[in-house]
Amino acid sequence: MSRGSNVYIFLGPPGSGKGSLSNMCVTELGWLQLSTGNLCREHIAKQSEIGKQIDFAIKSGRLVSDSLIVEMVEGWLGESFATQENVILDGFPRTVAQAYALNELLGTRFDAVQTKNVRLLIDDDQVVARLTGRFICSNDKCQAVYSLIEGSGLKPKRHMACDACASALVRRSDDTEVSIRERLKAYHLHEDKLLDFYRSHGQEIIDLDVQKPLSLVFEDFKGRLGLNGI
Ligand code: AMP
Repeated sequence: MSRGSNVYIFLGPPGSGKGSLSNMCVTELGWLQLSTGNLCREHIAKQSEIGKQIDFAIKSGRLVSDSLIVEMVEGWLGESFATQENVILDGFPRTVAQAYALNELLGTRFDAVQTKNVRLLIDDDQVVARLTGRFICSNDKCQAVYSLIEGSGLKPKRHMACDACASALVRRSDDTEVSIRERLKAYHLHEDKLLDFYRSHGQEIIDLDVQKPLSLVFEDFKGRLGLNGI
């Protein structure tokens, strides 16, 4: 990996649009995205050993164990981050233990990398409203995210079919009200500790207001990170 590579850590509650903003960065900027949630759902879809272990935690909105998640991330970075300049970590780290593990991993194996923390800010009520209108592509290799909410900018072109691969759109198994509340609880439980961890390591947090259409969020993101003109 070359010097100047960046790892962008997206922090934010479920439904804040980490995945949608990541997709924009992938399609518009040619970056790479690692979504630990997508990796978990892939394992469940192919019923791997890991998939069987994490199925219940995911459906009920609880966090998967740090050790399993870190193992997945380590494997992915080893395979996918060899040549790429910019990578988004979407939904990782979610706990201080994961943040420690990532710093260790980057420090020992990818020491030329710079990390940038971006926090997506949104009210809990907005999260619930967004997630009840959210659908994802049922193809576990795609998992593109859509919304049926007017003005979201995420409506599929054809009703309930993925724009990218034409597979059917489905609700995520954890987008139930009980699970959404559980995931919000888990997020808030860990958020302050994670922020303290980054600040105590001298890592800046860039706050982004995401309560607006995705195209505006993306423009704001590029402006805040000095990416305009790329
Ligand atoms: P997401 O797609 O990011 O909303 O994640 C969906 C679910 O996957 C979460 O509710 C957790 O059960 C699990 N998960 C994803 N990333 C992590 C992580 N970094 N640590 C623990 N569990 C995770």
